[in-house]
Amino acid sequence: MIARAALAPLALTLILTTAPPGAAAPPSPESFLGHPVGADRKLAGYAKIVAYFEALDAGSDRVELRKLGKSTLGRDLVMAVISSAANLRDAERHRATARRLADPRGLDPAEAERLIRDGKVILLVTCNIHSSEIGSSQMAMEWAYQLATSEDPKVVRWLDDVILLLMPSINPDGTDMIVDYYAKYAGTPWEGGRLPWLYHHYAGHDNNRDWYMLNLVETRMVNRVLHHEWFPQVFLDEHQMGAATPRIFVPPYADPHTPLAHPLQWRLNDLIGTAMALRLEQQGKSGVISSYAYDAYWPGGTKNTACLKNVIGLLTEVSSCRIATPVYVDPGELAGGRKGLPEYRPQMNFPNPWPGGWWRLRDIVDYELIASNSLLESCSAYREELLRAFWEMGRDAVARGERETPFAYVIPFEQRDPAAAAQMVEILRENGLEAQVTQQPITLGEHGAFGAGTVVFKAAQPYRPFLIEMMERQRYPEVRQGPDTKEIFRPYDVTAWTLPLLMGVSWIRVDRPFSAALAPWRESPWASPRVEGDGSDGWIVRASSDDAVTLANRLLARGVRVERALDAFVSNSLEFAPGDFVVTGANAALATKLADSLIVELHGLSAAPIVRRAPLRAPRIGLYKPWDASMDEGWTRLVLDRHDFKYTSLDNAALKKKGLASRFDVVVLPDVDKDVIVDGRAKSEDGSITYQEPLPPPYAGGIGKEGVAALKSFVEDGGTLVCMTSSSDLPLEEFGVPARNLVAKAKPAEFSLPGTLVRIRVDPTHPIGFGMPEETVAYCTRGPVFATSIPGANVGRAVVARYPEYADQVVASGWGTGMDRMTGRPAVIETALGKGRVVMFGPRVQHRAQTVGTYKLLFNALLRAGMKE
Ligand SMILES: [Zn+2]
Repeated sequence: MIARAALAPLALTLILTTAPPGAAAPPSPESFLGHPVGADRKLAGYAKIVAYFEALDAGSDRVELRKLGKSTLGRDLVMAVISSAANLRDAERHRATARRLADPRGLDPAEAERLIRDGKVILLVTCNIHSSEIGSSQMAMEWAYQLATSEDPKVVRWLDDVILLLMPSINPDGTDMIVDYYAKYAGTPWEGGRLPWLYHHYAGHDNNRDWYMLNLVETRMVNRVLHHEWFPQVFLDEHQMGAATPRIFVPPYADPHTPLAHPLQWRLNDLIGTAMALRLEQQGKSGVISSYAYDAYWPGGTKNTACLKNVIGLLTEVSSCRIATPVYVDPGELAGGRKGLPEYRPQMNFPNPWPGGWWRLRDIVDYELIASNSLLESCSAYREELLRAFWEMGRDAVARGERETPFAYVIPFEQRDPAAAAQMVEILRENGLEAQVTQQPITLGEHGAFGAGTVVFKAAQPYRPFLIEMMERQRYPEVRQGPDTKEIFRPYDVTAWTLPLLMGVSWIRVDRPFSAALAPWRESPWASPRVEGDGSDGWIVRASSDDAVTLANRLLARGVRVERALDAFVSNSLEFAPGDFVVTGANAALATKLADSLIVELHGLSAAPIVRRAPLRAPRIGLYKPWDASMDEGWTRLVLDRHDFKYTSLDNAALKKKGLASRFDVVVLPDVDKDVIVDGRAKSEDGSITYQEPLPPPYAGGIGKEGVAALKSFVEDGGTLVCMTSSSDLPLEEFGVPARNLVAKAKPAEFSLPGTLVRIRVDPTHPIGFGMPEETVAYCTRGPVFATSIPGANVGRAVVARYPEYADQVVASGWGTGMDRMTGRPAVIETALGKGRVVMFGPRVQHRAQTVGTYKLLFNALLRAGMKE
């Protein structure tokens, strides 16, 4: 039944009264901050926001503030639990109800109905993940104050039906970066301009691309609230979009959508989003759009994975001003051009366009307050429906997993890189999936026998859609834009996320029901580390594990001798591969200590191995950091930090400083457009000039001709330049190397790889291919695709990896067009120049710290710069 109350207009004014008897009345945000929330050019930083919530906690029995843990740079990530005083007193019981409904196995329908009748909707609202989209962090204070103090009977009822978990910022470090930078440049020509560095230390804007991989501590804290601690049924993530767009996006989403999610997910999403649109319209807010731009297919964003775990996942996007500075938008500047709104004019999903004019931070706060209150109202009105749907979606997932394929996914104990397998299983479990482990060997039909320690994810579990999404190869749903066109809706973001392929883990899909003695998860079967022998004559560590590289870095930092075998060899009757590490001078105690928490095997030697070897020293690494901040640069730092590589960040000035070759062995250019590196700004694809707001003087410009010359002499003097994807254009166009980029000028209709897993063949005897399997997959976005030329006398070039021979073999998971342009072409090349080398990667081998399976290609390029051959 649909509750009628949800359709009654909401009173505009909330009756504000004093706090409960005995408590100090909480201050209003205005009195606390000294200015109204959302006032022009006024912002509260994160410490102020937390202090305000602490004051609410102290002054109201409806608000409890909880600290979830430390952010990447050490700030407390907080969550306000807001509900009636009675619900807060009884919070543990309501939490237990939500947990019980989240996993319907063994829950009989009568008991479920009783829980639904007495349960409260748990609603999670997250703000300001994208730090420059600052409005919601400010709005959160005013919203919480209204809820803490209002005696309006409607609000009282909402708080009786709903427990709101409100996070004013899920990237506290970035909130402060934006507020501080805004204050620094207030009153200058750069007021409200973009930040010249990433607003998340590692990820920048990509912190909203991390939600299945869980690389960031902030993601993990929110994920724990969602799928381990509170089990909310509804989740809203509040964002902002550009200034020339519609004023607010509310659900429903645009196509495509993932068919794996339960249909109730989309119906309830529509219902709640439409109620938001109604309330906005009733309160005179124009420019509300739905079925626009944002799809429900790609699972990487904040609420997206939740949609596959039976949580109603909602998004709002409000138009932006310049941080806290008002903007004037000329009517002619308002633009359509995105999915769902080809032109800026009235449509069914956009019946009342905003006409243009001034737009301020307070407008953003007002739109968000109305949408947020409407959400609370809907959660109250549909309390039982939402709780029942949560239970039903989980119940249906379990039932389907019991009767239809896939029945399970199996991760064998024997793996090329056990560290990657252990990490993958940990990620899946942290995402809320249930794993089991075999106690005895099992046989799975044509797949054969598997030993004890095999990990099994049964599909008959409540988060089945998420499990399937992560373990299967993706096929992008090609939704056509109309009956008379072959044009399809382009992907919003990437199109492939098959976790075992990203991470280089072998796995098996089980298509028949099976029974086996499975034990509940206790601990990872991949114990760390395994040490064989006393190592008095040294150790061998296989390079097939990424953790071996971490161990090598730790050993080198301690001054221990580490070499790489240059050929295959046999030792103690075991076969070893080119690139395996030979360690001498570390006793068992030291080796075990340095290998702590790493999943590696140390094979003790009884005699020095008979094989050509090259000694390593820790390479001196410079990592380029453009002021036009690069997310790829940030993710690269995360990957290097995790594997104990030491590096120095090089900005434009540092890169141009004399003597680059005497300071560094290797310089890494992350995936940054060549024009950004050289000039500090990108050219548009057709070469036309579009307006781009300049950065202030210390950050303006690029490395210039001077920097290009410095890089070239760095290589000629013996350095290694490593170019991640698009930065390869710099040596290709400026250094005269015998290679070119075949897709540099290709149009999207001819060649498109929006984020796709493609097959490659690697040469594991080449030092950059060490430790890699011969056949594997790599992650590609856009290119480059290389072609080499037969070089002149003193110029070397080597192909380390290449794409398959036939176009239909290229894509392993995801979507791409124009694959014939890649067939047989090099994916990774190395060219010699003077005494040095240039290594160029076509695939994104460290993409968003997700492509564990190809990290080694980058690590090898770095280690080789310190290798004496
Ligand atoms: Zn955003």
